Amino acid sequence: MPSFVIAEKCDGCKGQDKTACQYICPNDLMRLNEEKTKGFNQEPEQCWECYSCAKICPQQAVEIRAYADIVPLGGKVLPMRGTDSIMWTIQFRDGSIKRFKFPIRTTAEGSIKPYEGTPQPTEADLKTNNLFTEIGKTLPTIA
Ligand code: SF4
Ligand code: SF4
Repeated sequence: MPSFVIAEKCDGCKGQDKTACQYICPNDLMRLNEEKTKGFNQEPEQCWECYSCAKICPQQAVEIRAYADIVPLGGKVLPMRGTDSIMWTIQFRDGSIKRFKFPIRTTAEGSIKPYEGTPQPTEADLKTNNLFTEIGKTLPTIA
């Protein structure tokens, strides 16, 4: 389901050089209409549906809608970020609403050391078929 910007809520990130949704989108889909100072998804059909723009938008102006609901039939997904959790509001086409609250990672941005504690592979390791988590192990061979 692609992102959809609610124009009434969007403030264009107050005219900054790059809006939050532009900054975060991995597929470079979000654009700013500079005349109207409104963000928009320029190609919803190319959306990776990663929800990053919906989560980062400071105005909660980005909803996730089913393709059929881009011309809104009522179904949508809207996140609300907290300091340690995110609340997802799911609205179904019949108007019913469900909410799900999930904890979020609170590790400081850039502080994660993904390889900490893992051994450095030797040249011999690189010549094996072992995966990253199997460095140094002798795996059974398939006959
Ligand atoms: S991040 Fe939100 S407020 Fe900023 S331009 Fe995008 S949709 Fe608008
Ligand atoms: S959901 Fe992800 S891929 Fe789609 S527009 Fe938002 S940030 Fe880009």
